[in-house]
Amino acid sequence: MAIHPHDYTKVVHSGVKIDPTHGAIAPVIVTSTTYRQSAPGEHLGYDYSRADNPTRSQLEQALASLEDAAHSLCFASGLAAVHAVMGLFKPHDHVIVCDDVYGGTRRLFDQIWQSLGLSFAYMDLRDPQQLKTALQQTPTAAIWIETPTNPTLKIVDLAACAELAHKHQALMIVDNTFATGILQKPLSLGAHIVVHSSTKYLNGHTDVIGGALMTSQSSLFERLKFIQFAAGAIPSPFDCYLLLRSLATLAIRMEHHSHNALMVAQFLDQHPQVASVLFPGLPTHPQHNLACQQMLAPSGMVSFYLKPNTTDLNQFCAATKLFILAESLGSTKSLLNHPATMTHASVNQQQRLQLGITNHLLRLSVGIENATDLCDDLAAAFDQARTTKE
Ligand code: PLP
Repeated sequence: MAIHPHDYTKVVHSGVKIDPTHGAIAPVIVTSTTYRQSAPGEHLGYDYSRADNPTRSQLEQALASLEDAAHSLCFASGLAAVHAVMGLFKPHDHVIVCDDVYGGTRRLFDQIWQSLGLSFAYMDLRDPQQLKTALQQTPTAAIWIETPTNPTLKIVDLAACAELAHKHQALMIVDNTFATGILQKPLSLGAHIVVHSSTKYLNGHTDVIGGALMTSQSSLFERLKFIQFAAGAIPSPFDCYLLLRSLATLAIRMEHHSHNALMVAQFLDQHPQVASVLFPGLPTHPQHNLACQQMLAPSGMVSFYLKPNTTDLNQFCAATKLFILAESLGSTKSLLNHPATMTHASVNQQQRLQLGITNHLLRLSVGIENATDLCDDLAAAFDQARTTKE
């Protein structure tokens, strides 16, 4: 597994234009909401910033390039991007969704789009046969996939799903937040649309909420662009600037996140207070081979189950000094999350248990600190929280 060499260059240069007025090489933040017209309807490409903004345009070009896409559109949050995609559908359209989808996406589908007449079927998309049967049984407008999934880090075979989606004229939409275009390029494997919460790895510094869509199909782009303009959930020029600045380090961050996550996963795998580790980069992960095929590195997310009756969960969560107990992921800083009571609290208990989200499950977003320091931090927390005697 190795990141594509040109991607290190691409993230530094794509989209960013040297300012023709002053020669500034950092992206210029254009705060203007409106633009002078030389005659009615005649302007330099910008008339109102909800429609287009020069700083946002640079970010959109950079993000398109990252996913090898022809087009990209930016939004005020990841969920605003998800919401915009759903605007492509009409009442009675049916969508198949991977069962381990982000809880907020499921809430949006079930509590907003379902009442507008769409139907959703959640299933374990690791099994293409199950998808094949579902597609044969019900006309389906779209398949919504996350891979690796959150928080149990299942891997969905994107090429196999794309083959079925194309055969049944369904759109394939992939939320690529966990891998980013640096580690996985769903469009090249047959997806029609890629979705991102740019709040996570793309920005990486826990200071911007944002979302993005990428596609290479002009007709889809035109419809999504209209939704972006008509519904108006656009990011501010300042947030676009912060994202552009963060993108320059994305390739080296993803490489380091993946390296650190492997070190942490190997440490956890050997720890007596850990029952099992979920990490696609470990050969013991049931889909390790598939992960190696479709991802260039395993990314920075590691989940693990505490061995029952060995560790006081609350003490463990309070004891880590580098891993910060907080929602979200993809930060330069390492984060610790207890999915059952934090990110997945909105998923009902029965569904949580079906998905393997027990009270013993912890999810780490491994940052870019030193891997040994991170393992030492976890080791000290395990010691402090141990409930069994030596
Ligand atoms: N998709 C995934 C995989 C996520 O993890 C999240 C948020 O955690 C979202 C979408 C929603 O993004 P945002 O919080 O930026 O609205």
